[in-house]
Amino acid sequence: MSIKENLNNIKAKLPEHVTLVAVSKTKPVSDLMEAYEAGQRIFGENKIQEMVEKYQDMPKDIEWHMIGHVQRNKVKYMAEFVSLIHGVDNYKLLKEINKQAKKHNRVIDCLFQLKIASEDSKFGMSFEEASEIIQSEKFSELKNINVVGVMGMATFTTDENQITKEFNRLKFAFEALKALQTQYCSLKTISMGMSGDFPLAIAAGSTMIRVGSSIFGSRNYTN
Ligand SMILES: *Cc1c(COP(=O)(O)O)cnc(C)c1O
Repeated sequence: MSIKENLNNIKAKLPEHVTLVAVSKTKPVSDLMEAYEAGQRIFGENKIQEMVEKYQDMPKDIEWHMIGHVQRNKVKYMAEFVSLIHGVDNYKLLKEINKQAKKHNRVIDCLFQLKIASEDSKFGMSFEEASEIIQSEKFSELKNINVVGVMGMATFTTDENQITKEFNRLKFAFEALKALQTQYCSLKTISMGMSGDFPLAIAAGSTMIRVGSSIFGSRNYTN
């Protein structure tokens, strides 16, 4: 099936409150343009350099989401244009994003990546770390970032009960952070769900799914 057909099939399944991020990492601009021409305007990349190159080559009404692990020293390359950074998992990174956003006179939306999987390899912070940051004095001083929600990745497994348990964990953490009611952020986004597990994620309360291979086909590399 074509990229356009894949995209339309997925969109037909999505409730209105769920945003689709088309994960286009490793794919050529021609593939992204096919999705663009089918109406897709939100793309997710996991390497900053690759995202910058695609941003330069593509129409300017696209929202670019950084979904990968972010190295602090590379934030400056995307600060001018990135729409949402999903993988913020420490205060120092948040501070750097704030600094670079300020240089461009903008406010950058961020998600706190929380560790929900039992696997060791996933990045992310604990609920306690996130709530500590949100309630801290130093957080209130960062005027050029806006934390709008949370992001998480479930364990790579076929055990649907385990995946659901992990997604529920993120939903629970989201509600608990929201209940802190600090005046410096208002949470609305739960980024969870990929090609293999997005129906489970939506059932558990996801508002944003990140789908790559089900749209663009499998990727030619091993991660
Ligand atoms: C690659 C990636 C995705 C998309 O994965 P698919 O299984 O191809 O849908 C989603 N989220 C993150 C963080 C990724 O790195």
